[in-house]
Amino acid sequence: MLSASPIIVWFRQDLRLADNPALAAAVESGAPVIPVYVHDEQAPGEWAMGGASLWWLHRSLAALGADLSQRGSRLILRKGAASDALDRLIEQTGAQAVLWNRLYEPWAIARDTAIKSSIAARGIRAESFNAGLLFEPWTVKTGGGGPYKVFTPFWKACLAAPAPAMPRKAPQTLAAPKAWPAGDKLESWNLLPAKPDWAGGLREAWTPGEAGAMDRLSLFLDDGLADYAEMRNRPDVDGSSRLSPHLHFGEIAPRQVWHRVQALSDAGKTSAASAAGFLREIGWREFSTHLLYHFAQLPKLPLQASFAAMPWRTDAAALAAWQRGRTGYPIVDAGMRQLWQTGWMHNRVRMIVGSFLVKHLLLPWHAGEVWFWDTLVDADLANNAASWQWIAGCGADAAPYFRVFNPMLQGEKFDPQGAYVAEWVPELAELPAPFIHRPWTAGLAMLKEAGVVLGKTYPKPIVEHQGGRTRALNAWKSLRENR
Ligand code: FAD
Repeated sequence: MLSASPIIVWFRQDLRLADNPALAAAVESGAPVIPVYVHDEQAPGEWAMGGASLWWLHRSLAALGADLSQRGSRLILRKGAASDALDRLIEQTGAQAVLWNRLYEPWAIARDTAIKSSIAARGIRAESFNAGLLFEPWTVKTGGGGPYKVFTPFWKACLAAPAPAMPRKAPQTLAAPKAWPAGDKLESWNLLPAKPDWAGGLREAWTPGEAGAMDRLSLFLDDGLADYAEMRNRPDVDGSSRLSPHLHFGEIAPRQVWHRVQALSDAGKTSAASAAGFLREIGWREFSTHLLYHFAQLPKLPLQASFAAMPWRTDAAALAAWQRGRTGYPIVDAGMRQLWQTGWMHNRVRMIVGSFLVKHLLLPWHAGEVWFWDTLVDADLANNAASWQWIAGCGADAAPYFRVFNPMLQGEKFDPQGAYVAEWVPELAELPAPFIHRPWTAGLAMLKEAGVVLGKTYPKPIVEHQGGRTRALNAWKSLRENR
């Protein structure tokens, strides 16, 4: 006989109906289901969502709410500490269980562990599932039984493990409770940015929600996967999947991506090498979460402890120039403006702007991490922290600090016609390549013809390339000498 007491499904970074194990378990039990999202601004502390993420969250919750309505259900919205909100909801609904999918941020693990034991202590079922990863962080171990610190053996171990389970379809209907508990109106949370022009750029670039995520995946599999290995480093072409915010918010599961890609490969519709190359990038996402799970200090402290003594500079003007895309280095400025306008930046350019911040400007990687946290729609504690530590040379398996990217050469190599710079730094659009990547080397006549006045229409470099490079290397040497 079916129990009439409802099951609460607590949605978090799993804002989808398909391949959602917590939701599937609730639906399969036959009990009425109460889907809930709690906007808990306290538990994450300094890692509360930034502006771009809040914009995404608003749109994604609206989409999830609409998808649930189509299946005879609702999304109940509550605000405040998740433990209090869930306690109240259990009291109000007489729920027999609370189910959710796991998160791996240290603050979330601490909160959810406490919530699980407090609910269970009341005799109510509290259970969590894996929806966000291909391989749980504690299941992938080195020969010695510890966590991996180097990507290649980590991914090799993942690929040797049993393949991730097949994704489940979305439920067709959800049994409704006899009475729905009250919930907030999404608009009352004021998640959208106060600056409407900022939201405009985000709106043009993205369609948050499960349907938008599936469309993005299909588009990439049809048009992008075959050339991914060749094009993924080119910011001037649409060569990568742009799935990162959808994956972060769990609008699509990595298992769904994995199996769609494998199926294409098995059917001979894409080469095994293309499939493996793309899944390897999903592997970097797994690796970052593995690192965050095992090294909770990742977002704040260098994994290589000696880097704590790095003589980082403080320079508010230089940081502001970097944030606003006014450094005088076109590829850096293009990336920072793409970020500001669309909430996303191409991976190659993230590496270039990151290197410029921590090396040419000798500013702390944490300053870059925090700016990205606020402005990226795919801001993800694990991916962001691990990538910044990689760029700064202080992480696990990091790029060595002494390898300083030359922004001009990077621009010429990966944006050969200067189309990317022309799009995001339009005041340089009339300069021909390669001068568009080094405008100060163009003659006065060329600059005049292109309508560029350095220091007026476009900034002069805020740091001289060789000087910045030498300063960075000297700082790094001092670190090594004082070890
Ligand atoms: P694709 O090339 O299509 O890759 C597919 C997916 O694989 C991505 O969506 C992402 O989930 C994952 N992935 C790819 N590269 C990486 C990587 N290096 N590390 C971890 N996962 C990866 N990614 C984030 O999702 N959130 C962040 O906050 C973030 N911050 C970054 C900060 C810096 C300084 C750098 C250098 C990289 C950062 N990345 C971050 C990683 C990477 O730049 C983005 O995941 C990628 O650009 C997203 O675009 P895509 O979906 O088209 O990627």
